[in-house]
Amino acid sequence: MSSNRMEISELGEFGLIDRIAGNARRENASTIAGIGDDAAVVDCGGNDHVLLATDMLLEGIHFDLAYAPLRHVGYKAVAVNVSDIAAMNGKAEQVTVSIGLSNRFSVEAVDELYAGIKAACDNYGVDLVGGDTTSSRVGLVISVTAMGRAHKDKIAYRSGARKSDIICVTGDLGAAYLGLQVLEREKQVFLANPNMQPALDKYEYLVGRTLKPEARTDIVFEMAEKGVVPTSMIDVSDGLASELLHLSKQSGVGIRIFEDKVPIDNLTYDTALEFKLDPITCALNGGEDYELLFTISPSDHEKIRLHPDIHFIGYVHEDKNQNVMISKQGTVVPLTAQGWSHFSRQ
Ligand code: ADP
Ligand code: MG
Repeated sequence: MSSNRMEISELGEFGLIDRIAGNARRENASTIAGIGDDAAVVDCGGNDHVLLATDMLLEGIHFDLAYAPLRHVGYKAVAVNVSDIAAMNGKAEQVTVSIGLSNRFSVEAVDELYAGIKAACDNYGVDLVGGDTTSSRVGLVISVTAMGRAHKDKIAYRSGARKSDIICVTGDLGAAYLGLQVLEREKQVFLANPNMQPALDKYEYLVGRTLKPEARTDIVFEMAEKGVVPTSMIDVSDGLASELLHLSKQSGVGIRIFEDKVPIDNLTYDTALEFKLDPITCALNGGEDYELLFTISPSDHEKIRLHPDIHFIGYVHEDKNQNVMISKQGTVVPLTAQGWSHFSRQ
């Protein structure tokens, strides 16, 4: 054994994935794209390529059963994978679901989990086609793999952004992060005094965004209807800044966004201030929004200009080392990734 030991936190999640990717060989011509995008791309013949995405949720890391109902956990586990397929401009069609269960869980609890999985499958038109079941010593583990498809000429990779492209993001950002802060606060209040009822009504939108995120399959559908193929795309799981840096790195381009264009819901804004947080920091680094971030050719702008849920937040330029946000005051702020870092938070 080597006496040298490197901590995973030294590499971080993305560094670790790069290291794994560096050692992955590609034997098969059918493997069109492997590690490094929202989903892998496989050529199975024909005009459509198959898309494959997988994501694992662990109790205590990704969800806390003190406030996340099992039904929502099941829904979210499917939705986040469907979101990764959507981020390739594809449609998910099948999922497999693997679960690890400790003896704390009853049959009724598993029924609840699968009620959520079924609700998501019904909502996104996806079939549950398999999985695996095992015992666990660390509470609930749920791993979902989604399979989907897209026309091979319409797949949106992270690497396709080009100079002058317009940067677009759907919905609004930061709400899921603040929903989590609200839930954490109410949990602490409850632990201190179990007679207290959680005061969540006012924050319903935020809590909903964190417990039951939706994949933006509607956007993929509407863009196709308007004949727009994004030049690059990614879903916002770690935070807008982190995802923008992925597009920059993989496309070899620079990003320039404008603070006043970043969509933040009023409740998100007010709740951030209540928590003494900067709303734009929550939007940039909060994560778990599962909105779509994409770039379009300027010639496509007119086709989606009036879409009520697509926001134009900046543009792509040549210098890949210049990834910045122009603040409301006009200052140039470098974009830095402070997304969820599972390895540094513990
Ligand atoms: P996303 O947030 O879109 O799910 P991730 O940041 O989790 O993407 O993963 C980025 C890429 O790295 C994906 O292509 C994913 O399949 C791949 N990846 C992540 N972890 C591993 C691993 N342990 N082994 C191989 N590939 C991995
Ligand atoms: Mg993704």
